[in-house]
Amino acid sequence: MDRRAFLAALGAAAFGGAAFGGARSLGASPRGDGAVALARSMEAADPHALVLGTVQDAGLPQVGCYSVRCDEGRRLHAEGVGRFVSSIALIEPESDRYYLVDATPDITRQIDLIDHPGFRRRAASRRPFDGIFLTHAHIGHYAGLAVLGNEGMGIRDTKVYCTTAMAAFLSANQPWAYMVEQGRIVPTPLDTDRWHRIDDHFEVQLWPVPHRDEFADTVAFVFRGPRASLLFLPDINDWHLWERSAVDAVASVDVALLDGSFWSLDELPGRSVDDVPHPLIRPSMDRFQTVADGGETRIVFTHLNNSNPALDMGGPEQREIERRGFAVAREGMRFTL
Ligand SMILES: [Zn+2]
Ligand SMILES: [Zn+2]
Repeated sequence: MDRRAFLAALGAAAFGGAAFGGARSLGASPRGDGAVALARSMEAADPHALVLGTVQDAGLPQVGCYSVRCDEGRRLHAEGVGRFVSSIALIEPESDRYYLVDATPDITRQIDLIDHPGFRRRAASRRPFDGIFLTHAHIGHYAGLAVLGNEGMGIRDTKVYCTTAMAAFLSANQPWAYMVEQGRIVPTPLDTDRWHRIDDHFEVQLWPVPHRDEFADTVAFVFRGPRASLLFLPDINDWHLWERSAVDAVASVDVALLDGSFWSLDELPGRSVDDVPHPLIRPSMDRFQTVADGGETRIVFTHLNNSNPALDMGGPEQREIERRGFAVAREGMRFTL
């Protein structure tokens, strides 16, 4: 199968399963066409990424927020199909290897989406992950480490892949430093902008991105497996501030999970585009439209703020996103790597 056909099958599987139905498992896909079956059979055996969460650091609902959208978030959680803070897992089913990408405040519930028996066995022995990748030190991206420590799972000897600054931050500040001291996490700094082999299947690159760096710095991850590559970039101040050509960067991967925090400035009364520390989805689509039209890269927005109408399943914003060839991330999506 050529790359384009493979990507089409991949997209069909990802979007047919969890994107629109809100289904927790891809097995609930309403679509039964050949492409989905093909992609799913590849998924079963092949290394893949599983979307564990899709919203901004503070979750959906956000604490003390009783807007219509946050109440809908409560309803989805009550139904067992809630939204979680942006995160993915990398899964190698045959070798029973699992990686977590960002450790969020929703970690307790969201890792339940990894339904492989092997993962549950590994969790029981307090060694669920072969490694944890952290983009940066904002609460939605690393605070979940806390419940992997003494009072929670009590993991051990787990490598935490991050930048040198982030590793230094973890080693120097409590309660993370105590987790390091106890040998639960092992900060493992990786140089930026070059490939690192993680195991027989996965390689990773760290790409620095401009973001509010109060405690450490911020990176995006590019993961490359035997079949495909995926960019995980949940936070960036704006595309034009990036040292890379954003269009070239996104076009260089098969799947790009990108910062979709806000739809428009209407969500932020009294703010100008200059003081919104994230790109807006519509201008992002304008920027990446040629990449989406090329059909070689699936561009999927994640890290949506609780104010973002693109969270509304089947709403006009989601329809516009889909019509233009983009997508909104949903828990349970899988991308073969
Ligand atoms: Zn964030
Ligand atoms: Zn952030």
